[in-house]
Amino acid sequence: MAHPAPARDAAHPAIPGEFDLIARYFRRPARRAVLGVGDDCALLQALPGQQWAVSTDMLVEGRHFFVGTDPYRLGHKALAVNLSDLAAMGAQPHSFLLALALPAADTAWLDAFSRGLLALADAQGIELVGGDTTRGPLNLCITVLGLVPEGLALRRDAARAGDDLWVSGTPGDARLALGHLRGEWTLGPQALQHLLPRLEQPQPRTGLGVGLRGVAHAAIDISDGLLGDLSHVLGASGVGARVDADAVPGSELLAAQPTARRRACQLAGGDDYELLFTAPASQRAEVLRASAQAGVAVARIGCIESEPGLRLHDAQGRDMPADFPSFDHFLQP
Ligand code: ADP
Ligand code: MG
Repeated sequence: MAHPAPARDAAHPAIPGEFDLIARYFRRPARRAVLGVGDDCALLQALPGQQWAVSTDMLVEGRHFFVGTDPYRLGHKALAVNLSDLAAMGAQPHSFLLALALPAADTAWLDAFSRGLLALADAQGIELVGGDTTRGPLNLCITVLGLVPEGLALRRDAARAGDDLWVSGTPGDARLALGHLRGEWTLGPQALQHLLPRLEQPQPRTGLGVGLRGVAHAAIDISDGLLGDLSHVLGASGVGARVDADAVPGSELLAAQPTARRRACQLAGGDDYELLFTAPASQRAEVLRASAQAGVAVARIGCIESEPGLRLHDAQGRDMPADFPSFDHFLQP
């Protein structure tokens, strides 16, 4: 339902109305849901012994992505950031809802956006079961649902003193690309070709998250910066950590940057959607097995200690300041 009534689409046959638009771009036969798009609610079957992991993330034009961002990549990213939250809980993706505010029913934009969104959905075995569509400033809000066996979710409050601290992938690349787009530094065309997809098409670490069930203690996905997100785990778990800044893996392109920039990107850059997790030292072989099975590299970057706070040092063991700011929507312009 929309108020006031929009301009009638009959006069503009090329422009789909709200219901045509949903049918054309977002409605597909339900496979996992009992009932998918089209009714007042979707119906999902409750499963014995499983818990629903549920999360929502909003992407606002001009804040989370630049005006004019490629719609195919945007469709991918809108879902990827939500899938990353499921991965960080060790949940298997099941279904999702899409709430969409659009300034106009731009068919070329909708076609590319829905292709990017549904290509990732198919690749990850997650199905669109409903949503809401309205006219307004471009705003994308996705709610994901995943399944995790009872008691096996990877929670932020589960880190224990003595755990190893691990990170997946090469954090920092997304921030390096963002710095170029913001004019903070300049990257060559080849570097940019490699780094832009790291910012615009992050790969959710679903397989790794699921593989870490029963192996890892706590996990979080790095959306706002490694140290900032780590501090959420430490706070929730009531513990501290020692981190070796030089043990954080960096891509070749990042390694070629001046040290201060490299460290800032790796330790405080957001948008990587890598997993940061803790696991008992007795599980090292299992962590590496989960990593190999998922095809995602992991590195041990520190350890959890009972003394609260974050202690950062370099490869030589020299203490470093740990006060890299992480991203906060209300503290930063
Ligand atoms: P209601 O008026 O009951 O809220 P809507 O008219 O908003 O229903 O939506 C009709 C159907 O289309 C519902 O099943 C809803 O979940 C689905 N839907 C609406 N927008 C989207 C969207 N962007 N993506 C997927 N499904 C959508
Ligand atoms: Mg509605």
